[in-house]
Amino acid sequence: MALRSAVPALLGQSQEQLEAWAVGQGLPPFRGRQLHDWLYAKGASDWQAITVLPAALRAAAPLPLGRSKELHRSLASDGTLKLLLQTADGLSIETVGIPSDDRLTVCVSTQVGCAMACRFCATGKGGLQRSLATHEIVDQLLSVRQAMDRRPSHVVFMGMGEPLLNVDAVLAAINCFCRDLGMAQRQITVSTVGVPHSLPQLAEAALAQLGRCQFTLAVSLHAPNQALREELIPTAKAYPLEQLLNDCRHYVDLTGRRVSFEYVLLGGLNDHPSQAEALADLVSGFQSHVNLIPYNPIEEEAFQRPSPERVQGFRQVLSERGIAVSVRASRGLDQDAACGQLRRRMLAESSAETSI
Ligand code: SAH
Repeated sequence: MALRSAVPALLGQSQEQLEAWAVGQGLPPFRGRQLHDWLYAKGASDWQAITVLPAALRAAAPLPLGRSKELHRSLASDGTLKLLLQTADGLSIETVGIPSDDRLTVCVSTQVGCAMACRFCATGKGGLQRSLATHEIVDQLLSVRQAMDRRPSHVVFMGMGEPLLNVDAVLAAINCFCRDLGMAQRQITVSTVGVPHSLPQLAEAALAQLGRCQFTLAVSLHAPNQALREELIPTAKAYPLEQLLNDCRHYVDLTGRRVSFEYVLLGGLNDHPSQAEALADLVSGFQSHVNLIPYNPIEEEAFQRPSPERVQGFRQVLSERGIAVSVRASRGLDQDAACGQLRRRMLAESSAETSI
């Protein structure tokens, strides 16, 4: 499959880079500073909106700003907002704004589709189209900020795609969130299902490119042993659990940050108390935190949501073993809560429309 790359854009660039770009266009450097202000602080979505710039420059629009088009939005009763955005080359991606009293978390996608094919994940069902460019990741945060009229406080890289298959754009987007949008790395979480050899590289690249590596690494574990993990995550065959955990230990050593483990609870499959014991054995003695995620049903698979008793039982086993554990509340369940579902539904509807 051809992995088309994105059209270059201004969004994602620092003030210095925008100044240099302006100079390259024969403009004074302050035009770059104005662009920076309008792109990030004011959130301009097209050249015409940047009224401080000369009309000729706005009309010429020498490079796309890098903003997407909103194709659809769906608002759940709890305030969770899911946006379907269109990239410049006509592909669609999901991004989600998850509000609470004191936070607005944006869940961003890193790829169009995903190659990892985890069995319970809607995104994996359609395969991978391409990785997103830096500006397409940054745009998601700005789109949520604009749609919710509120400044995001946290970012989680838990939308469509596998961040560790797009490390350069992910790190550049983190850099932009912190440098240009005033976030702190500690408010950012990068979630991975595990790509062999990528964790030490991630820490080293973050230290080299960002000067520090303080975002939270979340590792999608989902099973307490290799055999079950391979059943749920076909790509796990290439990455034995023992090796993944060793890489996580090494990551903790390199960064001094604890790792967070995600565990999707699938009723009757991986939610038995004995499996909680096995998980506790696996992660004890580790600077970690376990985040339990009750499965959000998707159309293509017949997995079950775990009962509330099983969720509580699983949690209790872990906390009695001294492991920091939390249960993620399902947000926006009435609006295609699972990642990738909205996009799949919209794609199915639009292909049904065109085939009529
Ligand atoms: N590829 C990365 C990030 C994207 S998925 C990863 O796998 O970590 C973000 C999280 O949502 C992962 O923990 C993933 O397993 C979980 N997830 C995917 N589909 C889900 C579903 N149907 N119900 C609950 N969690 C799901």
